[in-house]
Amino acid sequence: MEPPKKGAECHLGIYKTEGIILKSYNLKEADRILTIYTKDYGKISAVAKGVRRSRSKLRGATQQLTYVDLVLYQGKSIDTITQCETKEMFIALREDLHRWAYAVYTIELLDAMVPERQPQVRVYAEFLAALHLIAALEEPEIGALFFTVRLLPLLGYQPVLHKCISCHQEIGEGTRTSLSASMGGILCGDCSSPEPQGYPMEGGELAVWRRLAAMEARLLPRLKVSPTVRKRLFLCLRYYLQYQLERRLKSVEFLKHLSLLEEDKTNPTKEN
Ligand SMILES: [Zn+2]
Repeated sequence: MEPPKKGAECHLGIYKTEGIILKSYNLKEADRILTIYTKDYGKISAVAKGVRRSRSKLRGATQQLTYVDLVLYQGKSIDTITQCETKEMFIALREDLHRWAYAVYTIELLDAMVPERQPQVRVYAEFLAALHLIAALEEPEIGALFFTVRLLPLLGYQPVLHKCISCHQEIGEGTRTSLSASMGGILCGDCSSPEPQGYPMEGGELAVWRRLAAMEARLLPRLKVSPTVRKRLFLCLRYYLQYQLERRLKSVEFLKHLSLLEEDKTNPTKEN
């Protein structure tokens, strides 16, 4: 494993950072391997030794979706967590199943899209902001949508949204279009007919996508989006992400299970 390149302190293989625990799985009798999205090192895996013993000091702080301060010891194959202190538990997310489901979606999306050990301060900031938004907004779904549309350009997945990817004409808000994941952008009505191509969009979801991509997080509580348009945008993003990631996100199936996302039967798509 490469030595830590940056960070506040690095002394004899010991380094400090902060991060959010994305997932964990048990190892041997009492250990747990954690995947953490850290501020200074990006996504890392590390082992928390003896954490499942009742007296372990690390026990409380190593749960999924906990915001922590960490001290790690650099190992040959995997680093070891020597200290882990909770900064924030996100109680509001834990007490509400819908909020929790959207937060788990952001975790799975981030985990699927970011490579290991590549710090990106803006991605980290957007992720932390998204968790706070999902915890606080009246409609947590808006927080999840906000995170998704912000993450795409930061990681190089941004589709062309302002003009037709085929004929390059400007596309105004409210027009019927379709999103082609394979072509990487929006097709105008002319270019997606007579054979429908990509994922059909009514117009409202494109307008909301553009607004979310451009607006400041602090203005989100004032943004009103109808449940129908939110669902349509979520489904459209799901289609696009599935193409880019070449797999389905499990958390999206969980959202469907909670009836937070219904399949749009009227929306056939060639590329899905
Ligand atoms: Zn066109």
